[in-house]
Amino acid sequence: MSPLKTLFLNPPSYEGFDGGAGSRYQARREIRSFWYPTWLAQPAALVPGSRLVDAPARGLTLPEVLTLAADYELAVLHTSTPSFRSDVRVAEAFRRENPKLRIGLVGAHVAVSPETSVRASEAIDFVAREEFDFSILEIAQGRPLAAVEGVSFRDGSRVVHNPPRAPIEEMDSLPPVMEVYKRDLVVEDYFIGYLLHPYVSLYTGRGCRSRCTFCLWPQTIGGHRYRTRSPKSVADEIELGRRYFPQVKEFFFDDDTFTDDLPRAEEIARLLAELGVTWSCNAKPNVPYESLRVLRDNGLRLLLVGYETGSQQILNNIRKGTRIDIARRFTEDCHRLGITIHGTFIVGLPGETRETLEQTTRFAREINPHTIQVSLAAPYPGTELHRQALQEGWLDGGAATLVGGDGIQVSAISYPHLSGLEISAALEKFYKRFYFRPSKIAEMVWEMVTSPAMMKRRLREGAEFCRFLSRRGARA
Ligand code: SF4
Repeated sequence: MSPLKTLFLNPPSYEGFDGGAGSRYQARREIRSFWYPTWLAQPAALVPGSRLVDAPARGLTLPEVLTLAADYELAVLHTSTPSFRSDVRVAEAFRRENPKLRIGLVGAHVAVSPETSVRASEAIDFVAREEFDFSILEIAQGRPLAAVEGVSFRDGSRVVHNPPRAPIEEMDSLPPVMEVYKRDLVVEDYFIGYLLHPYVSLYTGRGCRSRCTFCLWPQTIGGHRYRTRSPKSVADEIELGRRYFPQVKEFFFDDDTFTDDLPRAEEIARLLAELGVTWSCNAKPNVPYESLRVLRDNGLRLLLVGYETGSQQILNNIRKGTRIDIARRFTEDCHRLGITIHGTFIVGLPGETRETLEQTTRFAREINPHTIQVSLAAPYPGTELHRQALQEGWLDGGAATLVGGDGIQVSAISYPHLSGLEISAALEKFYKRFYFRPSKIAEMVWEMVTSPAMMKRRLREGAEFCRFLSRRGARA
């Protein structure tokens, strides 16, 4: 029997919203940017004849995607806490357009709240919790919902929760997402400020050994074991990517912490060197010099590094498992080796005070990553931070409102000694003090004068960034 005709949809919501199908912080960014919808691309690669539509990255509106409703038998929508209500409206519009369409939701939000998610609308037939790739394949193959592990579904007035689905152990059983990217996506749609353009990102493993209390994926879907594909299968997929997309300048490994398994990372790097590709990945600021050197010598250009804060006490509070002194040494090593760093920081984590905000800003300026991203602490449901915030009464208004009406992050957390508004204002100040200093401006100008393409890109991003700051300023 041929599988149901299946549409995988990253639905349209806020303009420029980088939703949950690949993005850890589900919000509209400082500058227009999109991650690949990897969480949808993987099951799409499993279901023959399916199609993946990434509406935000393509700039598609609801009326435009609705024209597809009549062509499909099964629609799988990725949802997130900030976009949930909007995604439900999309599901309802699809149901009105095609009453026979079976509609399911996937993503961390429904994994954490399956009952309320199914009950949110008659248009939702099921939600697939945990790692949902094979749940969706089985549904597309026509298996009754009652027989699919990891699914919650409507049965009259009841919601039935099937037993959980075990995590995937044989990661090489997952087919390459590159086929789906080639078939359904336009690689030029995907911009990330610090990655070369065009880039391609993918997962080579799931799960993170660390237990950071704020971090969404490992606490909801991926778990705390790093389950990986074999180095050979990773290299084969990159070779495929290079063949399909000769214009791509960089491959990004979006594994939670690609450097969690250093011998494997080094082996992959050596295989990639034979392909002559430039690549980058996520890392914790604790990789030893020798490993950094091996990775750099074999094509590593950039590390996306979660520093989070310049306060050791806050690192301990959030169970990051890193040390400020080691992060400093790691950063110096990267500078010495010529590895570019995009550093990510979070303001408003437990233990934050006016003093630690100042300490973190100074820390970022001192270690001086090439670029930074500053986010507001986001208590996503399903995380330890969310539980803690509920218990301690830190949630503004008692509920986690994570983005405003424009899809931009708002501070969901307020402390008795530090209000959400102050935390928001600190974010803006942090950016300004990091970027608006002579040495950083000189660095950016040099980057632009040495590359006309970079000049064009940075001017556009600069204008967007200034608009972002002025919007934030108006709000604070
Ligand atoms: S190390 Fe990174 S990916 Fe892993 S739990 Fe911490 S923040 Fe999340």
